Amino acid sequence: MSTETIITKSDYLAFLESPRHLWAIKNAVPQLPYDPLALHQMEDGKRAERLAYDYLVDLVKTRPGCRLLYQQNFEDGPYHTRIDFLIHDTLSNTYDLIEAKSSTGLDKAKHLPDLAFQLAILQKHLEVSRCYVLHLNKDYRRDGELELDKLFILADVTDDVKNTTLDVILDRAQALCVAQLENPTEAEHCYNPRQCPYPGICHPNLPDDSIYNIAYLRANKKRELLDLGVRDINDVPDDFPLNAKQRRIVDCAKNGHIHVEHDELARLFETFEYPLWFLDYESCISAIPLFDGHQPQQQVLFQYSLHKITQPGADLEHFEFLSFTPGNPYPHLMESLRHHLGETGTIFAWHKSFESSRNKELAQLFPDHAAFMDSVETRLFDLEDIPKEHIYYHPGFKGRSSIKVVLPTLIPELSYNELPINQGSKASVAWWRMNAGEMEETERVKTQQDLLDYCHLDTLAMVKLFEFFQNVLHSGESGKTS
Ligand code: SF4
Repeated sequence: MSTETIITKSDYLAFLESPRHLWAIKNAVPQLPYDPLALHQMEDGKRAERLAYDYLVDLVKTRPGCRLLYQQNFEDGPYHTRIDFLIHDTLSNTYDLIEAKSSTGLDKAKHLPDLAFQLAILQKHLEVSRCYVLHLNKDYRRDGELELDKLFILADVTDDVKNTTLDVILDRAQALCVAQLENPTEAEHCYNPRQCPYPGICHPNLPDDSIYNIAYLRANKKRELLDLGVRDINDVPDDFPLNAKQRRIVDCAKNGHIHVEHDELARLFETFEYPLWFLDYESCISAIPLFDGHQPQQQVLFQYSLHKITQPGADLEHFEFLSFTPGNPYPHLMESLRHHLGETGTIFAWHKSFESSRNKELAQLFPDHAAFMDSVETRLFDLEDIPKEHIYYHPGFKGRSSIKVVLPTLIPELSYNELPINQGSKASVAWWRMNAGEMEETERVKTQQDLLDYCHLDTLAMVKLFEFFQNVLHSGESGKTS
């Protein structure tokens, strides 16, 4: 065993994510850049941790003989950790171990190994009395100044952590072995490389349409296919056991066929009522409630785009709202939405669970509009269901139903590629930077237009896809071929 290899807590958590991630870190394999929203959330977590520090400073003042220790380093051989917080009871000379998390609850699968790794090291040096996760209180609603004693919850997880420590001691030894491997292929990899941070080490030269595009295929099935030497979806044997949707994804990929369920499409279209509305929201998540009435980890809604078709053959109308000056966007957004969005007609969204959650938040924040927002909810239809449920499935979707995949497959002339802001995560971060006062006026004005263009395209894309599916229905044909 090399005496130089060190396993920090971050290394250990990377090992739990996937042994190959630890190997990649230890061997300086370049990681694909983080999504802008993931970076924002990391920074947001640090902001929450600074408030956690303030909360604990106040807490310790109420406990005679106690003092707070922050970010202390400890080692046990090759295992190193930095502890977020320790409360030292100088009367009993014992310590409480506290890990601050910006989540709104306890996540035992993640938080217990994290604390147990620290405890295993710490108990070599001092007597640990209790272990806590300090997390955000999901039920807290801001009302004026932040009340830290209500914002945070100190969850006692001592018994669970102590019960996990032995497993962690065994696991961290495994992590040390993985870190010292010459070749990453000796360590396990996961079977879900779509959001892969190190594609080069697990799946070099992965075919464009691979077995990982077969939706909801279990890891054991993927392993079976890999054992058969199959990585390209076109090589999946015809008798390989798959459910109906998975088989359709494979068959459509192999023969280039488009699958259309005309009867189901007709049934759906009969349920749609004019005027038709196409709605898309943009928001940015904030760990700490920014405005009155907001809760921890709330999505702050700052923009919408809305297209309307009053009746068959009518001109397309467009409405929009964007709050792009610092401050609470909600009052004006609610007023504007109420003004633009009529009381009747089907409202289309894409991946409607997001719009639905925002509608419910609006209903809670604005009781006067709750009945209206409830009715919006009942009128909402998820246009994504059509590709997702394979009512219309094109091999170009490659097992997915995101609008960013469906749009270029069916309407290639309408593209996000040229837009400076072309993803929801970029829109979120743009609003955050503006609200935090991080934008000069020139940049703010340009970004404002970029956001309007992006959100406009989201709902225009829905209109065009709606018309596409309508044409498929009326023509009785399958639309474009690949
Ligand atoms: S496939 Fe990607 S996500 Fe999975 S272990 Fe390998 S590097 Fe990680």
